Amino acid sequence: MSRARHRSGRPYQRARRAMFAIYGTVCHICGHEGAGEADHLTPVSVDPGQPLDPHGMRPAHGANAPCPTCLRLCNTERGARPITKAVRTSRDW
Ligand SMILES: [Zn+2]
Ligand SMILES: [Zn+2]
Repeated sequence: MSRARHRSGRPYQRARRAMFAIYGTVCHICGHEGAGEADHLTPVSVDPGQPLDPHGMRPAHGANAPCPTCLRLCNTERGARPITKAVRTSRDW
C-alpha cells in the first residue's frame, strides 16, 4: 500500500520533478547523462514508510531510460538486489 505511494500518484510525481530540478539528469550510479528515473537512496522495499523527499532520491537510469553510454539499467540493477519479487509495476508490458 504505502509502497505504491513511491511509484505513482501526484505527490510522488511532484517529488520526482523537484528531484530532477535539483539534481539534474546525471545518473548518480554510473555518472552519465540521460537519467530519467528517480532512484531512492533507501530502497522503498527496505523502508516503505519513508517520506516522499526529493533529497531522498537521485536521478538514475532504469528500464524506461537505459544509459545511452554504458547501456546499463542502473536503477534496476541496484534496486532489484534486496528483494526477489518485482515491485516495479510501472512498466507497461
Ligand atoms: Zn546510469
Ligand atoms: Zn552509464
